[in-house]
Amino acid sequence: MTQTTVSTSLFSPQLKESQSTQTKHSLFADASSRLEQALKHISMSEDAIERLRHPKASLTVSIPVRMDNGSLQVFQGYRVRYDDTRGPGKGGVRYHPNVTLDEVQSLAFWMTFKCALLDLPFGGAKGGITVNPKELSKAELERLSRGYIDAIADFIGPDVDIPAPDVYTNATIMGWMMDQYSIIKRQLSRGVVTGKPLTLGGSEGRNTATATGAFYVIGATLPKFVKNPYNTTVAIQGFGNAGSILAELLFKAGYKVVAVSDSQGGIYTPQGLDIPSIREYKNRSRSIKAVYCEDTVCSIVEHQVISNAELLALDVDILIPAALENQITADNAKDVKAKFIFEVANGPIASAADPILAEKGIHVFPDILVNAGGVTVSYFEWVQNRNGWYWTLEEVNQRLKVKMEAETERVWSIAQKLSVDVRTAAYVHGLNRLGEALDAKGTRNYYIDLG
Ligand code: NAD
Repeated sequence: MTQTTVSTSLFSPQLKESQSTQTKHSLFADASSRLEQALKHISMSEDAIERLRHPKASLTVSIPVRMDNGSLQVFQGYRVRYDDTRGPGKGGVRYHPNVTLDEVQSLAFWMTFKCALLDLPFGGAKGGITVNPKELSKAELERLSRGYIDAIADFIGPDVDIPAPDVYTNATIMGWMMDQYSIIKRQLSRGVVTGKPLTLGGSEGRNTATATGAFYVIGATLPKFVKNPYNTTVAIQGFGNAGSILAELLFKAGYKVVAVSDSQGGIYTPQGLDIPSIREYKNRSRSIKAVYCEDTVCSIVEHQVISNAELLALDVDILIPAALENQITADNAKDVKAKFIFEVANGPIASAADPILAEKGIHVFPDILVNAGGVTVSYFEWVQNRNGWYWTLEEVNQRLKVKMEAETERVWSIAQKLSVDVRTAAYVHGLNRLGEALDAKGTRNYYIDLG
């Protein structure tokens, strides 16, 4: 019943011109422009460059789901394996009403560079379903998640492509996905999905990994610019897995988190917010909005209700977009007053905003470095699943810290050496590793005219 369309090379040479015109304003075209920028600073074989401009394989599926009221609804799902030269594809699955193939492809592209940058033995992939999960019951969500795995089972696997959580997916959903894949394959396949519940082979520290990794990157870079990082003020857009846990880590370390927001709006106070209380309310009520009028939090600090647009324009030291892509664009970049931006979300800054932010002297630390803690602990989970030997939270966090800090320093020294911004340096670092692997593989389908 499930319909699939596979294209193993998205752009054939004949189609290239019309396709690239078509995708001119797409997220993927925008994402690719960062690759082109980095290529100016690196010597790499033309073959490797050409390979990296195109996703290896894209899969579109229709997922029929029996709804609680007895009706049948069909959802659109995607999985893109961008490149698997350095190892199996790796990347999350997003459930969101705005998911498109273009978005999934862009996210898979970023995963490719992220995994190379962190020197993980993975390529880049991503998946998604066009759905508003908040409108589904838990049973419908489970049927949808299992239906998605039914549809993409031949496209993924512990040595092929390994999904993980992303926006509006979580450990419970990863557990269903692992279970469904194991049912299809008739063997327990823990390593097919990461970000699972601990009881099903998840790793300690995976749930907090993206935030913890970002915390290490901030800790490794901020002292290069300011004497006392803990005096800095922080605004965070997006109060989900990544944003809310990072807010709490920063709060506990002594940073002053003055504003946070979710999809419904935000709150701000120059004196700093009590983040643990806000997290508690958010977990209970599912919305920061509930915080507005709850007595206890209101009495802890006075706060102002602000919009997401206002949050991005606050006069703070550090701005952390941790929600969705394209939040800072050519239209609002001029309003940004922060001195530093750490991209915890994937692609929160459109490329057209880069020169505007640079002109204003704002230091931008890119997604492929800052949010790489999530995939790094996903790698640790995969390793633990394969070994059947599980690590403590301290071991996970220690290994994560070593990796995040080492690669942050490498990116930083490339930026200094080439006199480029940190984003370009991050791409150069990933490209060096990818180019080496692509060239080492050679050209399998090479025919010489023996005439
Ligand atoms: P999540 O679903 O846990 O949280 C998303 C948050 O963003 C929610 O608080 C939601 O209300 C908020 N939000 C949605 N639309 C918004 C809008 N228009 N304005 C402001 N807030 C909005 O998702 P997450 O896992 O925290 O992911 C957030 C970002 O981090 C995404 O870009 C994701 O790709 C990236 N990321 C996540 C991980 C991970 O391990 N979870 C890893 C790497 C990168």
